[in-house]
Amino acid sequence: MATMVVSQYEFEAFKTEHISPLYTIEDIKVSDTPEIDVRAIEVLLGMEDGSLVGKHTLFFRAASSPKAGVCPCGRTTSFLDIMRSALMVHSKEFLKSTILGKKGFVISKTVPMIQCCSCGRQVKELKAYNCKKYAC
Ligand SMILES: [Zn+2]
Repeated sequence: MATMVVSQYEFEAFKTEHISPLYTIEDIKVSDTPEIDVRAIEVLLGMEDGSLVGKHTLFFRAASSPKAGVCPCGRTTSFLDIMRSALMVHSKEFLKSTILGKKGFVISKTVPMIQCCSCGRQVKELKAYNCKKYAC
């Protein structure tokens, strides 16, 4: 997986070129991670209560296609599925500092293998996701 630290300029350019256009396509479902999932991410990564919840500067968004039926089990893919899958290859510390923006601006050019939290199915519909300083 090509994950790299970039400048803010490169980060914004990546979002403008690769992510923002997706968010305007009608067949793509753009979903913000619900609070219950953000809380689950805090628990998953061993963060203090409230490290992520309610912080409006941390903004977890995912784009999936097709719009209808994101997963056959009914679950809408969120950052929780992304973080749970990422834990198979990255440490908690790495993920924590990435989503908190402590590494600076980080991009991944390819969407990694993501499994649905509810049913374990491989999510093939996920096209892009981003939070404040991390985009894929
Ligand atoms: Zn599922």
